[in-house]
Amino acid sequence: MLKVKNVSKEYRGRKVLKNIDLHIHQGEFFSIVGPSGAGKSTLMRIISNLEKQDSGEIVSLKPYSKENPVIMVFQDFSLFPHLTVLENVAYGLKMRKIPRQMREERASKLLSWFGISDKAQEFPSMLSAGQKQRVAIARALILNPMILILDEPFANLDKNLKMNTALFIKKTQREFGITTIMVTHDQEEAFYISDRIGILIEGRLIQTDTPERVYNQPVNRETALFLGQINEIPREYLSFFSLPDSLIFDTGKDEKNSSVICRYEALSFFPDPNGPGVVTGIHVWGKMILYTIGIKDITIGVYALQMSVQIGEKVSLTIHHLIQQGA
Ligand code: ADP
Repeated sequence: MLKVKNVSKEYRGRKVLKNIDLHIHQGEFFSIVGPSGAGKSTLMRIISNLEKQDSGEIVSLKPYSKENPVIMVFQDFSLFPHLTVLENVAYGLKMRKIPRQMREERASKLLSWFGISDKAQEFPSMLSAGQKQRVAIARALILNPMILILDEPFANLDKNLKMNTALFIKKTQREFGITTIMVTHDQEEAFYISDRIGILIEGRLIQTDTPERVYNQPVNRETALFLGQINEIPREYLSFFSLPDSLIFDTGKDEKNSSVICRYEALSFFPDPNGPGVVTGIHVWGKMILYTIGIKDITIGVYALQMSVQIGEKVSLTIHHLIQQGA
């Protein structure tokens, strides 16, 4: 569908994209995640043809054209303030010289799908951020784009709106079958709705894979850390933990790393007066509780759902899953 081949870009002598290779499949929902300044927007601007790469090429199944556009929905939504919601959504068809009645019919249908038919005659300034975003996406979809690019679609939304919006975007993408690339630093939402994810760090596309594999089998420590909290446990401390049989095999596989990595939610513990760990901290984080547990001179982080121990209490720990680096 779309191939990014060995694309590099420099700004004032500083490389912001380094030899990017990426293949986007027809009809998939692909997300690029990475820290701020990693080069995500630059890559999207190059894919959208709004910017030129210094080297490498973008190869698309069909050439970009008015009939096969690549449309980017910007995070500020960029709606036309002097046009009504209906006129905003119908705008692209007006540019294509589609007769008024036909374009308004198509725009109305989309507004209905987006659940904002009652806002058709209102102006953007009267809408909530979530409604503005729906208008912005509807305005892009009406042109049946070959590729839809969503630039930080959750940036202007309240925390509690983000997940609902993510689910709605996914449902819409499936309904219309549009190949979609999303750029975001909201990893949770990206993991929830993407078919595949690309991790971009300091201009390099470090890993491209399904959300599950990227999370559990990151290619290196840096990627593991970017995606969530990790414990790095020196191998000589493994004897203080219970390990399922499968993990004992895994831990022996990679002797060159002197420590193993596991995520905070991949551990559990129970009170045990003879256990090797001591609870040193309890932090309630809404849906989860973060425990810190000291074992000799190291501290382990564990996420749990219930408050089951007190500070100072002794515990035994089990590791349930280890991150396999370099998978
Ligand atoms: P992200 O979207 O991941 O936050 P960007 O692609 O916006 O990252 O930016 C990557 C780097 O390139 C940043 O250091 C940014 O300051 C720089 N940059 C982006 N656009 C320009 C530009 N037009 N001129 C100079 N530097 C730029």
